[in-house]
Amino acid sequence: MTVSHRKLEPCRLVLATHNKGKLKEIQDLLAPMGFEVISAGGLGLPEPVEDGDTFEANAAIKALAAARAANLPALADDSGFCVKALDGDPGIFSARWAGPEKDFAVAMQSVEDKLQEKGAQTPEQRGGHFVAVLCLAWPDGHTQHYRGEVHGEVVWPPRGLEGFGYDPVFQPEGFDRTFGEMTKEEKKGIGESLSHRARAFDLFKAAISS
Ligand code: IMP
Repeated sequence: MTVSHRKLEPCRLVLATHNKGKLKEIQDLLAPMGFEVISAGGLGLPEPVEDGDTFEANAAIKALAAARAANLPALADDSGFCVKALDGDPGIFSARWAGPEKDFAVAMQSVEDKLQEKGAQTPEQRGGHFVAVLCLAWPDGHTQHYRGEVHGEVVWPPRGLEGFGYDPVFQPEGFDRTFGEMTKEEKKGIGESLSHRARAFDLFKAAISS
């Protein structure tokens, strides 16, 4: 498949999020490159239903809804945790596994229970990875995706109080600590990018500066 690369010139860019933390992070990243980043939340845009069946589809739903509503290029992200022995679950349902209380102790326990049901004991059998997909969309419907992944194993019991979500049960390859035991800086990666999100952003930054 040939995907045409469209150059994003410095402009006002809508970030399809209602999360102020994500907005600040991306404003800091893109301001030096001449972009004014505004949020879909700040523009009062509604949040679309994320009913795609891939990270790419869900990121595109959010980015296209914001781009069309604001008539500006828009950026959205979608991410999750995929466990090999569980056929990629929880995957796009990562947030939902934590239930309405957003209780990730419950979500991590569900992952462990299912791994036990499968008899997964060794690091190879307990492989998993985080995925982050960024979608850059234009009001005319053009989209470009950037995917970052970090691979490792699911450990039990959970370790560490840093981070969020599934961090305490994920130990990246080549490390003896979980994401829950790493500082924000370490998780992002010192020198080379480590986290799925940092890797997706590297691809996005490289694409917009080329
Ligand atoms: P999103 O906000 O729809 O992208 O939901 C992603 C979900 O995936 C979050 O609620 C977390 O459960 C999980 N997730 C994504 N990235 C991370 C991470 O870096 N650490 C831990 N959990 C993550």
